Amino acid sequence: MSKSIKVFSPATVSNVTCGFDVLGFALEKPGDIIVARENASKGAHINQIIGSQNIPIDPLENVATVAANALLKHLGSGAGIEFTLYKNIKPGSGIGSSASSATAAVFATNQLLGTPIKNSFDLLPFAMAGEQIASGAFHADNVAPALLGGFVIVRSNDPLDVIQLGTPPDLYAVVIHPDLQIKTAESRKLLPKQVPLKDVVTQTGNLAGLVAGVLQHDYNLIGRSMKDVIVEPARETTIPGFKELKKAALNAGALGAGISGSGPSVFALCKGATSAQKVLDSMKSAYQNTHIQFDIYLSAINKRGTIEILD
Ligand code: ADP
Repeated sequence: MSKSIKVFSPATVSNVTCGFDVLGFALEKPGDIIVARENASKGAHINQIIGSQNIPIDPLENVATVAANALLKHLGSGAGIEFTLYKNIKPGSGIGSSASSATAAVFATNQLLGTPIKNSFDLLPFAMAGEQIASGAFHADNVAPALLGGFVIVRSNDPLDVIQLGTPPDLYAVVIHPDLQIKTAESRKLLPKQVPLKDVVTQTGNLAGLVAGVLQHDYNLIGRSMKDVIVEPARETTIPGFKELKKAALNAGALGAGISGSGPSVFALCKGATSAQKVLDSMKSAYQNTHIQFDIYLSAINKRGTIEILD
């Protein structure tokens, strides 16, 4: 029987309020699962996508196969690989749906070939090549936390410079995904072209505080720092009920809350599972008033990133 590998790669929250394009973290759930099998026809292909009818199966259009083929090309490998993709993260949700697939595919391909790439960091450019066809940008802010777990800083995409921060042990996230379509490209158009220096100073202080809070496990500092004076004001109107959701989260005891990626998902960070459950209940009842359908998740911060599942 041909060899097969099953891999899980988590959803991710990028931007994290003041960390636009440079900070992200991984969730324990949801996450995509890929089963990769050796196959006679050269290159990476998808035989089945389970859980979503809306994403392409064409190897040139699905981020999973684009990412895996970038790795095969780099290795000069003539291997044939067939994926079954279990799509547990809805595309366009703003919690790194495409990044999860791209990362799982690259990780699974490397495992199937006997780990020719030893260091996980070195898989990032291939996952980014896949992610690029979805987002149009060569960005690591979702694929890096999906691959490595915890909080991750992308200091630079080119040359790639990624720093793992880990996570405070008692930190939880609540993520609500309203059933709305927000195109990343459209959402980018709303961003200011120029920013007053005083806002840059405020934002830099907050980002430095957030990074220090994560590293020092200082939950109050994380909360004080989760303020975005540049991007959130420009984007918040794209998510109906955003202000109410944020207020509901903060009133229920969240450390902070903001837009996940370019939305429509909204996330809150909380100290402890009990507090996170209260925040979830509060966000849920606030959003029920909008009559917009939604999914809501309570998750610990994922510490391991992309992993092989042995069943
Ligand atoms: P998200 O941040 O949720 O990943 P994006 O807008 O960045 O959302 O990506 C979604 C786009 O990528 C959709 O156009 C979708 O068809 C395309 N896509 C291609 N392959 C995949 C995949 N394996 N998973 C999710 N989206 C994919």
